[in-house]
Amino acid sequence: MCKHILNAQVSIRAPCCKQWFDCAECHAETQSHRLAKATEMTFICKKCKKAFRKDVTEFEESDEYCPHCDNHFVLDALTPKAALTVEGEDPRVDARMLKDERTKIDPSRSIYDQDTSDRLG
Ligand SMILES: [Zn+2]
Ligand SMILES: [Zn+2]
Ligand SMILES: [Zn+2]
Repeated sequence: MCKHILNAQVSIRAPCCKQWFDCAECHAETQSHRLAKATEMTFICKKCKKAFRKDVTEFEESDEYCPHCDNHFVLDALTPKAALTVEGEDPRVDARMLKDERTKIDPSRSIYDQDTSDRLG
């Protein structure tokens, strides 16, 4: 956890100096050079301590989760998305298979109507 991104869930390896930082601001404060941008960044999940790599140019919502432990990490400052002008989006059709969830129908127990007619004598 650093002072810039309080909810930092990953450490990011700077491609320029091969050091680990919690965010780009940490790199800027401790290093005199600018943080190099790479299309593929290396992360280490702070939760499971495992490293994984992500293509930050195609960062999708599902990529915000650690592939090892599904820890949700939020990248705020590092994504060079804004600097890159995307020309021509190719529409990706996400064909998801519909899950055939069969709900088991419990044999509903028939409720016996007990006609207890109270005799009022
Ligand atoms: Zn660096
Ligand atoms: Zn920081
Ligand atoms: Zn993890």
